Amino acid sequence: MDYTSERVKKLSESATIAMARKARELKTQGKDIISLSLGEPDFNTPDFIKDAAKEGIDQNYSKYMPVNGYLDLREAISKKFSRDNDINYTADQIVVSTGAKQSIANVVLSCVNPGDEVIVPAPFWVSYEEIIKMAEGTPVFIETSIENDFKITPSQLKNAITDKTKIMIYSSPCNPSGSVYSKDELRSLADVLVNYPLITIVSDEIYEHINFTSKYFSMGAFSDMYNQVVTVNGVSKSFAMTGWRLGYIGAPIWLAKACTKIQGQFTSGTSGISQRAALAAISADPIVINDMKTAFLKRRDFVLTELSKIKGIKINKPQGAFYVFPDISSFFNKSYKDYTIKNADDLTMYILESAKVALVTGNAFGSPNCVRISYASSIESLQIAVRRIADSLSRLQ
Ligand code: PMP
Ligand code: GLU
Repeated sequence: MDYTSERVKKLSESATIAMARKARELKTQGKDIISLSLGEPDFNTPDFIKDAAKEGIDQNYSKYMPVNGYLDLREAISKKFSRDNDINYTADQIVVSTGAKQSIANVVLSCVNPGDEVIVPAPFWVSYEEIIKMAEGTPVFIETSIENDFKITPSQLKNAITDKTKIMIYSSPCNPSGSVYSKDELRSLADVLVNYPLITIVSDEIYEHINFTSKYFSMGAFSDMYNQVVTVNGVSKSFAMTGWRLGYIGAPIWLAKACTKIQGQFTSGTSGISQRAALAAISADPIVINDMKTAFLKRRDFVLTELSKIKGIKINKPQGAFYVFPDISSFFNKSYKDYTIKNADDLTMYILESAKVALVTGNAFGSPNCVRISYASSIESLQIAVRRIADSLSRLQ
């Protein structure tokens, strides 16, 4: 007998993780699958970070940790926020968690009462919707278009706000579109939000350092937004540390306390060894990851050039993260033999079957006309993958 709760029954499995699992299963069966599904750097964690973790083991960072993270790590994060983001958070305003995913869950559970609304510009990262549902909140999506670089306008934002709005959450650079909001664009959104001091803005900056624009800007740096913004970040993407599971927030003190309370009951402090590794990563000059960033940029340009040669694909130029998010709707209602592509889910399955390349459907990100392609893979794999995708699409009639 299956007694799964209604709460869990309503929850969808993470589409990114599900596709990565499927690709892994097919590979185990001996199929030659190229997985461009999961968003994770293919690089290894830099050696100086691994060395710090090894020292952490030898220094016995092996006990229960303070729930909100070691003071020296929180102080380093506080310095990082003023160094890179021009935001002053004291160590008390920082909460270290087991990944940015947990940080976001903590914040949403801390703010949202059942029936409260959360504004989510689409496309959005898959887990936002499910975390909001878990908190019994109602996601309110704002649609964007590829022509507008997948960005929302101030008037769209204003129209989405009601007296039930509690949170607005977005990522910049965006997963899945790669779009980066400029300082001026953020200011125009802030001009709307500042009139609603009870709305908390969750600024997800996990791809901060994988940013190809000249300057990164954080919403929390506007002095009139400081008390409304929670800044989410972590080491997963920037330092190729997805498996170390360490994220953090800088937040108003009441929110930092609420998140710590939740974490104290759910997980306690994250691994001490990961905290020692993160201390080394966060204290270093971000220049140390320039090689990775340059490699991502080269791959982005390669993938963009190749995809734009394929008839029927519409694509914009992502300015950050490591995804491209083409509009593939011109292939809907086309067929290969007796298989007809009705939507992005079908196209993703067709590409998996016929090109042996795993992508993620745009449906999971709230953009049903698109698919997400992660280019966090070697140029050699990307070359083969793009060629196979082009061949498969050319067979559709
Ligand atoms: N936010 C976004 C936009 C992401 O793409 C991810 C990817 N994992 C996360 C948060 C969560 O990151 P973490 O690995 O730190 O949990
Ligand atoms: N954030 C990554 C992605 O979008 C990792 C998978 C996940 O945590 O859901 O693919």
